Amino acid sequence: MNRRRLSTKARAAIFLRANGICHLCGGKITPGEAWDVSHEIPLALGGADDEHNMRPAHRKCHRAWTAEHDQPAIAKAKRREAKHIGAHVPQRPLKSRGFAKAEPQRRATRPLSKWFGFSRPTPIDTMEG
Ligand SMILES: [Zn+2]
Repeated sequence: MNRRRLSTKARAAIFLRANGICHLCGGKITPGEAWDVSHEIPLALGGADDEHNMRPAHRKCHRAWTAEHDQPAIAKAKRREAKHIGAHVPQRPLKSRGFAKAEPQRRATRPLSKWFGFSRPTPIDTMEG
């Protein structure tokens, strides 16, 4: 994924092949306007670094497009790749189930003498009450 430094001749050829039309907004690139050579398919998404993947774009269009479309797409591709190879680290470590909640004590006047667990009252319990 090495970016070649384009010569003036190569930039001119890319510009003329597209008739000076910005490939992002479709508008004419007028003389004196700043423009970039944009990769139609971003290099980070597998696009080739050759003239078939290069289009002229207004610098402002190019920057906005890169920030709004290409960067999120590249970030998502990286996340997908990391998950695919099993390198994904979960944001939160695994959490235990925690302690079971005890049922509320029904009689506050007498201390609990027997532990019946968390199940329903046994017949012995109902006979006393
Ligand atoms: Zn444009």
